[in-house]
Amino acid sequence: MADVVDPATRSRMMSGIRGKNTKPEMMIRRGLHARGFRYRLHCKLPGKPDICLPKHGAVVFVHGCFWHAHDCGLFKIPASRPDFWRQKLLGNADRDMANISALESTGWRIATVWECSLRGRGEQGLNEAVDRLSNWLRGNTAMIDIRG
Ligand SMILES: [Zn+2]
Repeated sequence: MADVVDPATRSRMMSGIRGKNTKPEMMIRRGLHARGFRYRLHCKLPGKPDICLPKHGAVVFVHGCFWHAHDCGLFKIPASRPDFWRQKLLGNADRDMANISALESTGWRIATVWECSLRGRGEQGLNEAVDRLSNWLRGNTAMIDIRG
């Protein structure tokens, strides 16, 4: 269980955040699978959601806080080339919002699980995050944001 991994190891596990099959994404996937959910990966929908559960009318994004410019303690514009990074990262965040609107308008329910729910000061732990996600999947509310 990831919950017994020490913080330093967990931090290393979380470092390669960009792209597909990132560690937080795999942790969430494994947690959902263990709770009996079955899903598809990276389906062809706006923003290529990481986890898709058509039966629940739901998609899940697992976002790294740096790459998606999350309003939290894990996000900071790098000191080197700040203008480049600001444009790039805020551009990513804008795209995320556009994707969420597009999904919403076609009736999808949308969950975003942020990296900071799994590490950092506000960490709630994998089980807590996956429990919240599972409860949301079984319910019928349109959106959930799971963050630290
Ligand atoms: Zn965050």
